Amino acid sequence: MERTPTGRVIVKPGREKSLLRRHPWVFSGAIARVEANPGAGETVEIRSADGAFLGWGAFSPLSQIRVRIWSFDREEPIDAGFFRRRLSAALALRRDLVPAEETDALRLVHGESDGLPGVVADRYGDTLVLQLGSCGAEAWRECLAEQLVALTGTARVFERSDGEVRALEGLAPRVGPLRGGEPPVPVLIREHGLAYRVDVRRGHKTGFYLDQRVNRVRVARHASGRRVLNGFCYTGAFTVAALAAGAETVLSIDSSAPALEEARAHVALNGLDPSRCEWWDADMFQALRRLRDESRRFDLIVLDPPKFAPTAAQAPQAARGYKDLNWLAFRLLAPGGLLATFSCSGGVDEALFQKIVAGAALDAGVEACIVERYAAAPDHPVALNFPEGAYLKGLLCRIG
Ligand code: SAH
Repeated sequence: MERTPTGRVIVKPGREKSLLRRHPWVFSGAIARVEANPGAGETVEIRSADGAFLGWGAFSPLSQIRVRIWSFDREEPIDAGFFRRRLSAALALRRDLVPAEETDALRLVHGESDGLPGVVADRYGDTLVLQLGSCGAEAWRECLAEQLVALTGTARVFERSDGEVRALEGLAPRVGPLRGGEPPVPVLIREHGLAYRVDVRRGHKTGFYLDQRVNRVRVARHASGRRVLNGFCYTGAFTVAALAAGAETVLSIDSSAPALEEARAHVALNGLDPSRCEWWDADMFQALRRLRDESRRFDLIVLDPPKFAPTAAQAPQAARGYKDLNWLAFRLLAPGGLLATFSCSGGVDEALFQKIVAGAALDAGVEACIVERYAAAPDHPVALNFPEGAYLKGLLCRIG
């Protein structure tokens, strides 16, 4: 796909402002007209109402995000060389910031924040998982796979293009090997000296919550000798980290039976003591009420629920969910207890999340202060021109 773009998108007067600040999205409502009928994923030139060049981007005919910018540089053609440069820069960031002894599983490409909108690439040992979420990313699929293999030396690329966003782009899900055949089931990874099994074909996201890697260590630092509750445990990564750090007991709760089964396997895999573990296959909202009714107490509670609000439109409803969970959790804490509470909702920013948690503490009748703040690990950077990238936030609150 190395040809000079003919399609052109002209934005309405005044709507060039966000692009001049280098925000990489052009919404359909900002567009005055589209010239030369570009196809899905084709590179288009974006111009202001007075004809000034603004950027090169990928056209998405069905999405509200009609264009995603590849480059703001007029002299930079969007070709294989462009992708090689962007991927190399992304890999250099990880080489600089994620020590190899810390993990062999990490995010190599984080979409917009690596200048590659719609492109996610995660490494799990010798397996790369590629997740494409936009027409532009889709158009460069082969090129991306090829360059990733060339730049990382990893022969196996598995495609997990099954994110919800694809429907908004008019793209069908696609899951399967892209280079080098079927990946092992499970793929074994090591994170901070602990082993985990990852199912890259069926696991959440691309298989594992890589974004919580650093937070698992930071939270687990407070687990020694403590009674821990891990809410929304998935395959038990916080559980394993807490046990390895010396937790007295860990109650892990999730509504997915297969996830709990994996979590149990992770305790065994790491030679940790299963007698210190309790597992509940339950809905968290109900489980927390049951624990309250049973007068159970914990010294450290982790709440890492799924995304309640993908966009700001769902924020009010999400806020009610977060408030309820955190309110119940605060009431289960022993004096001096810690609540590590997370939100991965793009539609709930850090300020709003803090307000919700503050309201929950107030209603629970506890005095609490924030003693640590969490975000996604550095292999999930947030470009300053793309604040939407800061989806994961967390607070460690200590009650008096
Ligand atoms: N902390 C985990 C990731 C959590 S992902 C880690 O570090 O790996 C969110 C989890 O919440 C998923 O495993 C999902 O099965 C679970 N979940 C979603 N809704 C739930 C509910 N209402 N009650 C309990 N678990 C739920």
